Amino acid sequence: MSHVARRPAWHCDTCDQSWPCDAARRTLLAEYGDDRLALAVYLAALQAEAAGQLVGEDPLTLRARFLGWTRRGGSPRTSPSPSS
Ligand SMILES: [Zn+2]
Repeated sequence: MSHVARRPAWHCDTCDQSWPCDAARRTLLAEYGDDRLALAVYLAALQAEAAGQLVGEDPLTLRARFLGWTRRGGSPRTSPSPSS
């Protein structure tokens, strides 16, 4: 598997972006599909591990990095259901 996190720096082992990089995000979304809750649980565990290794990193920044992109549509605001 490529585009995995290289600890303890938490950079991608393939493209050297901060992990999760764009490719890793796409892979995770493909793996988890509609199960965003399971994806969030998995990423929250990784975030906790990273927080212990990336000393001095802002927890809110880490949260946005690991979890902020998982919301459907990529927007922080969810729109109401289209059915009325
Ligand atoms: Zn990568």
